[in-house]
Amino acid sequence: MKKAIIFTRVSSDRQHLEEQESRTSALAVSDGYDPENQIFISYKESAIKLSEEARLGLLELREYILSDSEIDAVYAFEISRIARSQRVLYNVRDFLIEHHVQLVVVTPSIRMLDADGKIDPAAELAFSLYATMAEQEMRLKKERFANARARNKRLGRFNGGHIPLGFRLNEEGVLVPKEDSIHLVIGLFVRYRDGWSIVRLRQWLDSLGIHYSCQNIKQMLSRENLRAIVGDEAFEECQRVKKSRYRERKYRKFSLCEGLIECPECGRAYTIRSSGQYNCVYHDCQRAGTELYCENSVGLSARRMDAIVLTTATLWKSVDLAMSEEERIAEYKQKMQVLPKQIKTLADKIANFSEKKLRVAENYEEGIIDRVKRDTKLSRIREDEKRMQTELSRLQAEYSRLSVERQNPLMTQSMFFESVKNYSQQEKWELVHYMINSIELEIADGYKEITIYSSNSDRVEKFRFIGQARSFRLIHIIDDSEIDVTNVAGYK
Ligand SMILES: [Zn+2]
Repeated sequence: MKKAIIFTRVSSDRQHLEEQESRTSALAVSDGYDPENQIFISYKESAIKLSEEARLGLLELREYILSDSEIDAVYAFEISRIARSQRVLYNVRDFLIEHHVQLVVVTPSIRMLDADGKIDPAAELAFSLYATMAEQEMRLKKERFANARARNKRLGRFNGGHIPLGFRLNEEGVLVPKEDSIHLVIGLFVRYRDGWSIVRLRQWLDSLGIHYSCQNIKQMLSRENLRAIVGDEAFEECQRVKKSRYRERKYRKFSLCEGLIECPECGRAYTIRSSGQYNCVYHDCQRAGTELYCENSVGLSARRMDAIVLTTATLWKSVDLAMSEEERIAEYKQKMQVLPKQIKTLADKIANFSEKKLRVAENYEEGIIDRVKRDTKLSRIREDEKRMQTELSRLQAEYSRLSVERQNPLMTQSMFFESVKNYSQQEKWELVHYMINSIELEIADGYKEITIYSSNSDRVEKFRFIGQARSFRLIHIIDDSEIDVTNVAGYK
């Protein structure tokens, strides 16, 4: 008899949980797994931060599957019920596929394997999308932390991280100039003005025992608070050099990364070649043998690079959307609290109007007011009444609209992914250039490595190509873990 595992989570919200459990279980029944053939695994979300693999539920899941060959399906209500980190999710997925176990998710509806036991590409796309989102919910929390950092910055407090060259922290945690390294700051700007590449500057600082990343150095070169140290003239000149190296390029039909990739050798921008590769603009045969020739031959297929960069920009943008979505939900909740009160107050006022009208009529009958006055008063009351009636129906309509409209924030994110698919090339270009500040393409440990830097936050994504051109693996490096995204839709 075939069996299924129902994967659930123990939560403080008992009722909510039971509803999810029963819906998940009912789906399994409809797929032919009788309740007695359903194994329930539930895990407890602990305040103590256990790593996701170490969590009991996932270990149990593996145990069951390895020890009972009759289990051929796992049911979960949502992907985030299984795990939050992409790496763990992909591990679980691969484990299930490897053991020919079907994975069924209730919402969004996903069935990993088709009727022939093969991976369903549409399900795979949905899985990778929602896996990203599950992780992004965690990332949102980190983004909040980043907002706190911005506040610190405004207050002049140091946020941690790299102390910029030429500065030190005083007792109050505020950055103040450091006299004995001012010559280094000046040296940095002067060398850059004279044509040194960022990588060469990094090597120079490294040789002095001072360690900064290329990105840090790039940021330093336009730090306003260094202007006073290096002088207006040198500072402005460096900004000009920087601009000429990253000249705003006109949108070109097939390349999204134009102007975003800096050559680590000569510091100039990469450009797209007729071969369909991004390469250093000065690495071409026309310049060969001349002084301008750049030795750097590291390039990458534009199609591949564009896919990675577009997916990254879409992910980042969708995080921003989810955040504004959260704000919208907060606003929504507040409205849903206030609206009923406003409606009640208005309805009470309207109820008083008939009393008022009655009083006017009585006053007329008792001879206190004449006919003309009575009619003026009555028409004024009617006007007020009409105005308030209109307002009341507006509020009521808004209330019922809001009650229906309540959206799942995850839906908005996935809708965004869908809409990007239909973007024109120009719109994609705009999205990429809006979200991404710069891209580095380097050889690291013998592999091509792409680092993508965000233009409006500290976000950085790193990818690595492992293997040969035709049979490469694309690895997404997140913190210390490596996720193989070679076959994930969007990156292809
Ligand atoms: Zn170059």
